[in-house]
Amino acid sequence: MSDNDQHVQHTWQLTRDGAEDVTIELWADGETVRVDGGEEEATEGGRSMVERLLAKYTAAGYRIERDYPVNDPAPHDEPVEDDEAEPDGGPDKCPECGSPVEYDPRFGDDYREGAAWLCTGCKWGQWVTV
Ligand SMILES: [Zn+2]
Repeated sequence: MSDNDQHVQHTWQLTRDGAEDVTIELWADGETVRVDGGEEEATEGGRSMVERLLAKYTAAGYRIERDYPVNDPAPHDEPVEDDEAEPDGGPDKCPECGSPVEYDPRFGDDYREGAAWLCTGCKWGQWVTV
């Protein structure tokens, strides 16, 4: 495990076809916000700034590929029942194109929202049935 991202609290990854991926970081101080890719910038304003940046990029055609806590400040001394943990039984790779498959606990489309396996290559996806 690396110490290099200790300053980061949460990361959002945005993608858009034909454009460089954009990563937005909220730092552990709760104030500093950094954007990598796209128009790189460092600013402040914490989560409300993140929300503004996310709105700006999604309006520009980006979609949030995923977001995740980098360094969860809460100690994990006790085993936590984490219902966002990746379940067993997912496909190792996409049956359509063979690309790696990612687990997304909060995937949503127009019809429903929930856990799903998503291909990192093509648009293939499969809802996780619990
Ligand atoms: Zn695929």
